[in-house]
Amino acid sequence: MSEFSLIYRHFKNATAKHQNTTLGIGDDCAVSSIPPNCELVSCVDTLVAGRHFPHDTSPYAIGWKSVAVNLSDIASMGAMPYAILLGLSLPNHDENWLAEFTKGVSDICSQHNVELIGGDTTKSEILTISVTALGFIEQGKAIKRNGAKIGDVICVSGHIGLASLALSHILNGQNTDLQNALDLPMPQVDLGQKLVGYANSMIDISDGLGQDLGHILTASGVGARLYLENIPCVDELNRLPFVQKYQHILNGGDDYQLCFTLPKNKFDEFNALYPNTIFKIGDIVETQGLQLLFNNQKVDFGIKGWSHF
Ligand code: ADP
Ligand code: MG
Repeated sequence: MSEFSLIYRHFKNATAKHQNTTLGIGDDCAVSSIPPNCELVSCVDTLVAGRHFPHDTSPYAIGWKSVAVNLSDIASMGAMPYAILLGLSLPNHDENWLAEFTKGVSDICSQHNVELIGGDTTKSEILTISVTALGFIEQGKAIKRNGAKIGDVICVSGHIGLASLALSHILNGQNTDLQNALDLPMPQVDLGQKLVGYANSMIDISDGLGQDLGHILTASGVGARLYLENIPCVDELNRLPFVQKYQHILNGGDDYQLCFTLPKNKFDEFNALYPNTIFKIGDIVETQGLQLLFNNQKVDFGIKGWSHF
C-alpha cells in the first residue's frame, strides 16, 4: 500500500454527516439518496498550483478555494449543495500541509452543510485539486444561462473586481490587505437558492463580469446594456484611474459573485423582500452584443476575461 492510499483517513471525519448520505468515505463508492421531486446537480472544477493559485498560497486557502469555486457553480444554478468528492494529486506527503488543507475544506463545508463523501489521492509532480460537487434542486427549477429575456434587468450579488485587484497587488510584489478576497471567496449559496422563481438566467462570475455575462447573452441569443456607474465596487477600486478600475471590474476574475437576469417586476418584488442584496447593473436588449455606458456615454473596452488557451 503506498503512502498515499492512507491519506483519506485525514478526510474521513473532516465534515459532518448529511442526512442524504447512506454510505460515506471508506468503501469503493459513496451511496446517497436524492430528496423526492428533486434533480441532481453536479459539477467539477480543477485547480492547478501555479496556474489557478500562486505556489505559495496557504494550504488552508487552497482547501477553502477548491471547494468554494464548486459551491459557487452549484449556487449559480439555484441549487442546494449537498456533498463533494475530492481528487487530490500531491507531490509529497506532508502531514502539516494536509492538516491545514483539510481545515480549509472542512470549514467551508460546515458553513454550507456540505459533506465530503469520497475522493481519490495520488502522487504527482504538480499539486492539483479536483473537486466534484453535488447538489439538489426541485425538478425543472434549475436556473440556466439560456433564459435571459429582452426587458430583463441584469443584476449582480455584490461588489466586483476586488479579487482581481488583490491578484495585481500580489503579482506586483506589493503587500496587500486584500489577500482574503482572492484566497477565501464566499460562494453565494443562500442567495442562489432564493433566486429560484425570480431569475430567468444566472451564472457565477469566475472569469470576469464581461466574459461571464457574455455567456448568458450568447446562450440566450440577446444583447445587454451595462451601466458602469451602477456596478458595485469597493473604495480601493474607486481610487484607481477609470480604465484601470473598469479593467478589474469587467475583465478580472475570481469574484464568485452571481450575475443574473430577472423581469422588472420580479426585481422589485425581490428587492422589497431582501433590500440591498441584489444590485441592478444593466438591461437585456434585443441588439446583440454588450454595450457599455458610463453616465449615458458609450465607452469601449476590450472584454477579455480569463482564457486558458
Ligand atoms: P479505491 O482503491 O477503492 O479507490 P481508495 O484507497 O482510493 O480506494 O479510497 C478509499 C476511500 O477513501 C474511498 O471511500 C475514497 O472515496 C476515500 N478517499 C480517498 N481519497 C480521498 C480524498 N482525497 N478525499 C476524500 N476521500 C478520499
Ligand atoms: Mg481510489
